[in-house]
This record gives sequence, structure tokens and C-alpha cells, in this order.
Amino acid sequence: QAERDRAEASLPGETPDGVRVELAANAGSPDEVALAMEKGAEGVGLLRSEFLFMGRDTAPTEEEQYAAYAAALRNAGGRRVIIRTLDIGGDKDVPYLGLAKEENPFLGVRALRLCFRRPELFRAQLRALLRASVHGRLAIMFPMVGGLADLRRAREALAEARRSLEAEGHPVADNYEVGIMIEIPSAALLADHLAAEVDFFSIGTNDLVQYTLAVDRGNPALAEMYQPYHPAVLRLIDRVVTAAHAAGKWVGVCGEMGGLPAGALLLLGLGVDELSMSPALLARIRRLVRATPFAEARSVAQQSLALGTPEEVLALVEPLVRRGE
Ligand code: PEP
Ligand code: MG
Repeated sequence: QAERDRAEASLPGETPDGVRVELAANAGSPDEVALAMEKGAEGVGLLRSEFLFMGRDTAPTEEEQYAAYAAALRNAGGRRVIIRTLDIGGDKDVPYLGLAKEENPFLGVRALRLCFRRPELFRAQLRALLRASVHGRLAIMFPMVGGLADLRRAREALAEARRSLEAEGHPVADNYEVGIMIEIPSAALLADHLAAEVDFFSIGTNDLVQYTLAVDRGNPALAEMYQPYHPAVLRLIDRVVTAAHAAGKWVGVCGEMGGLPAGALLLLGLGVDELSMSPALLARIRRLVRATPFAEARSVAQQSLALGTPEEVLALVEPLVRRGE
């Protein structure tokens, strides 16, 4: 099996009827980017930058961040690396940030909301990313965007960081992409407006499911209610894909749904352009995509949008999964 995985690692994500879906990997450090490439990832769909900030006593300097982002880009050997800006909130313990304890950290000062309150922290990260942009194919992604105000404020901070670097004579690439995560229902519903002002979307199903269904993603008592195949979630995703494509933008998925066989087929059928997952899941999903005609995945996905329960959705998609495996 391991041998078969290795032999197939260089094959592209492509259905038998010729529809391409980029199969990318999620990574948590520059070393994991290298590992992802060995597993045949066509890119890095999500590099979580939290690794630089956790388990230490002070914030990483701009220099330290620059070195790490440059290493990640080099380790990808010319493939696109989507680096997400800091997504830390009241639920993660980062003592040196002095975060206030919150009743509802997932609804609190998290990710961009924290970065906007700590402009010096955000600025150092944005400058480090822009400086690293000359070392590979960079995409910068903002998490937890709730609407146009968040996006515009983040883009303005990025533009300001760029101006400061240029004033100091630092080289910055011209070809990096700027995108956002779609993981808050308000952003999914306003995707048409957001699409006009980004290069791409990446749907964060881990949080999108949590916020759409009002089910804490980490609460074991509610695990059965945490349903990525809920038709309400599928309808939001469908809307996001349609809005992105209407604006000529591409859309990926970096939540765990994309690494589940049934999830991958539904997302493929809904028209997503990229699926990013744990490197360990790539081989299985690649095989499934390469065995499943897009026309069939699309038909199942379209029918799912009209169903009323996740159980009905699963019953519809499971035969397609079994046939493809
Ligand atoms: C997501 O929300 O789906 C996601 C990929 O981000 P994280 O799991 O880091 O919140
Ligand atoms: Mg998230």
C-alpha cells in the first residue's frame, strides 16, 4: 500500500472526465511543508502560522517570522503556499499576549479581531510575509473574516506594511495572492461582495459547521450534532462557490471536510477548485477523485442541496464513495 501511494503521489487530482481539482495539504510548520511535498501535495492550502507564536515567552520577531515563511516557501519548491495570518483567540493560552479571559472565546477576540487590536503584532507578521514573498509562490490568507469591513481593514494593514517596506528599500514580490477564509456564515452569505475584493476563497469547514449549526466543534457531548453534511452547510458552500466563480476567482476548502471521502466528493461536485487536507489523507482522496466522474459527483451534490437532513445526504453520496474506493 505504501508503495502504491508513493507511485501515485505524482498523479494530479483529476477526474476520469478531465476535471482538475488541486489536491493540497495543510501544514503546521516549514518542515511539514516539506513532508507534504513528499506525499505529492500540489501545494499548501493552509499553513497555520500559530506554530511561531505558541509555546514560548515572547512574540516572534519580524526577522524570525521572515526566516520561517521563507523556509516554508523554499520547501514547497515553487508550489503555492497559502500562509494564514495569526488565528489565536481566548481559547489558546499565549501568556505573553495577555489575552482577557472570555465567556465565549470562539465568539470573542479571535484571529483578525485580535490582530486589529494589536497593530504592532499584525504589522510584524504582514511585513515578514511580504519580505518572504520573493522566495516562492506566496498567498496570504486572512482568517475569521465576517464581512467587507474586516477584509478592507486587513487589506489596508497589508498595504501599509508594503508601503513601509518599500520606503525602506526592501524587495517585495508583485505576484502574491491575497485571499480570505470563509468560515463565518455572514461571509458565506456575502460572498458575492467579498469575491470582488480578493484573489481567492478558502472555506474553513471546521468553523463554518460550528457557526452554522451553533455546535461547539470541540465539545464531545455534541459530537453527533457536528454535521459537515448538513444541507444547511452544503447550501452555504454552494453559494460561496457560485459567487467566487461568477467573479472569476478560485475557491478551495481547507477544513477537515475536504479530507473525508464523502466530503471530498460533495465538495468536488459543488465545484471547488482545491481541497487541502492533512498530508496523510492525500493518497486516499487522490485515488477517489481519479476514480469518480465529475458528472456523477455534480449530480449527487446538486441533489443533496434539495435534501433536508445530513442522513439523506450521506445515503446519497455513500454509494459513490464505495464505488470509487
Ligand atoms: C477551519 O476552520 O476549517 C480551519 C481550517 O481553520 P482552523 O481549523 O484552524 O480553525
Ligand atoms: Mg477556522
